[in-house]
Amino acid sequence: KSIQIALDGPAAAGKSTIAKIVAEQLGYIYIDTGAMYRAITLKALNEGIDLSSNEEAGKLLADTEIDLQPSENGQLVFLDNKDVTEDIRSQHVTKAVSEMAAHESVRTQMVKLQQQLAEERGVVMDGRDIGTDVLPAAKLKVFMSATVEERARRRFEENKKRSIHTPIDELQAEIAKRDKMDSEREVSPLRQAEDAIFLDTTFLTIREAAAEILRLAEE
Ligand code: C5P
Repeated sequence: KSIQIALDGPAAAGKSTIAKIVAEQLGYIYIDTGAMYRAITLKALNEGIDLSSNEEAGKLLADTEIDLQPSENGQLVFLDNKDVTEDIRSQHVTKAVSEMAAHESVRTQMVKLQQQLAEERGVVMDGRDIGTDVLPAAKLKVFMSATVEERARRRFEENKKRSIHTPIDELQAEIAKRDKMDSEREVSPLRQAEDAIFLDTTFLTIREAAAEILRLAEE
């Protein structure tokens, strides 16, 4: 049976960056499940689907192909065979994704898809419900967080490299709002799995956080 590592936590906690490093070190695949929710949200926005409708959202996803492919610069995301790796990071998608991700019709299909992706090989998967719903039997579960101020600061720095200049207070408000929606939704709200280890990364560098997770993985 393949080894599974589940990394959960609120928005912009550094999960993807750290998951990528840990996966590389262990020779596992890395799956950013947030990218999958972002991809279906992008499609819904493009097609003018009613984001508040559980039924429409579910139908749309049933008729959609989402693929993740590893590449040198990280994971590439394909939506119906089109590369949307950059497009799914826009503020437009970021602001809408939590509404889409709250639908039961969407989550049931996503969880199935994610479980299939983890069947074949060792995997490091990051998201909100990996330890609780997607991979409840994962060998290691880590719930990562940092203060909202620190998470906004990190997102701001990351955005700079991609020439996005959203002000830091706007980022902080968006992150806080998304955390609230993700924690308060009815289906699989964001919460720490009972058997997850809590890791506060506020004062840790990316390297230090990755090293800590690798240490835990070897225990
Ligand atoms: O990880 P990222 O911030 O890209 O995730 C975007 C959004 O997708 C989250 O705010 C959440 O609403 C949703 N999501 C989720 N379950 C996951 C991963 C992401 O609901 N496993």
